[in-house]
Amino acid sequence: MPLVNTKEMFAKAYNGGYAIGAFNCNNMEIVQAITEAAKECNSPVILQVSAGARKYAKPIYLKKMVEAAVEDTGLPIVLHLDHGADFEMCKDCIDGGFTSVMIDASSKPFEENIEITRKVCEYAHAHKPYVTVEAELGTLAGIEDDVKVEHGSESYTKPEDVEEFVRRTGCDSLAIAIGTSHGAYKFKPEQCTRDENGVLCPPPLRFDILEEVSKRLPGFPIVLHGSSSVNQEYVKIINENGGQLKDAVGVPEKQLRQAAKLAVCKINIDSDLRLAMTAGIREHFNAHPDHFDPRQYIGDGRKYVKDVVKHKIMEVLGSNDKI
Ligand SMILES: [Zn+2]
Repeated sequence: MPLVNTKEMFAKAYNGGYAIGAFNCNNMEIVQAITEAAKECNSPVILQVSAGARKYAKPIYLKKMVEAAVEDTGLPIVLHLDHGADFEMCKDCIDGGFTSVMIDASSKPFEENIEITRKVCEYAHAHKPYVTVEAELGTLAGIEDDVKVEHGSESYTKPEDVEEFVRRTGCDSLAIAIGTSHGAYKFKPEQCTRDENGVLCPPPLRFDILEEVSKRLPGFPIVLHGSSSVNQEYVKIINENGGQLKDAVGVPEKQLRQAAKLAVCKINIDSDLRLAMTAGIREHFNAHPDHFDPRQYIGDGRKYVKDVVKHKIMEVLGSNDKI
């Protein structure tokens, strides 16, 4: 099976009450960990590449590694551009064989966002085969590669904007801001409460906005960015092995599971993979200070990333056995 776009994948996810995981990939071990986990769970999957990943690994390496994963696993896999900054970057990916792109003009005024998004949609949809386009309305706080928004400058998506935006742009899916956030420090401690173990509990997602949006766009796939949960198990391993991640906090998995049952068809997860990779490598070096073979320590990181992806598919996304 060749790379696929998100069209049929999202239609099935919408009707089936589950979401597809969109995992960021930056190197071979991450691609392998994600796709081996998806294979074992019999799950469709989206591999996404950010501008930072393109800079780090070069687009051609990422493309060929994802193609290798398609051939190796036989899974339906989408190769998606995460946070395309402008038309040129989206065009470059579409021409280079990506099956889906995101144009993120969410920091621009409404009319300008529409104009840029429509231009990308026209180009992507005329491409053979059809390339799907994700757009964004509203802004998330936090840091993800080149995308930086200060806490306090984020804004929730306004439900009254979504029908006009989708109609005038022709986008295939829409990322909305309902309180998720980029990075491993999603919320300031003062925004949170603490549970009995002293672990930070973030403010709940705005399900009222999600429900209003899905009422206005029946059957239309919604996307959540910044949806790592910052599993404290991995933060603990990192901190016990020389790391210093203080007050890292994410979105509770229970709330993401709930969103996946509603109109949310794509959930973006990056920080949780970074934490798992780091935990595996730090633990390895602490246990084996004499090791210097990259296959040994990156191999342990890859194992933890695979564990995390399997957990997400089974317990959060619900996309297992959906092929
Ligand atoms: Zn994002």
